[in-house]
Amino acid sequence: MSDTLFRTLGLIEPGDLVVYHGSIPSHHGIYIAEPCSCIDCVQADSLGTTDVRYLLTDPFDGEQDPTTLRCVRRRSITRSDANA
Ligand SMILES: [Zn+2]
Repeated sequence: MSDTLFRTLGLIEPGDLVVYHGSIPSHHGIYIAEPCSCIDCVQADSLGTTDVRYLLTDPFDGEQDPTTLRCVRRRSITRSDANA
């Protein structure tokens, strides 16, 4: 699949910068997105769900205890313009 098509579909690729605008306002901001790899998501994945969830890590937090959000729905994030 071409990079252009990826962007047209709005797919999030691992390592992409995304903006979180979901249900936790205090966590709204920019994160690095990876596919969520917790038990629940891996199981859902193996059942063929199309509802992909993401693990978000705050790239601007300290290395000690970075803020992470797991099992984030696709509709709660938008690819950041910073990728362009
Ligand atoms: Zn998960």
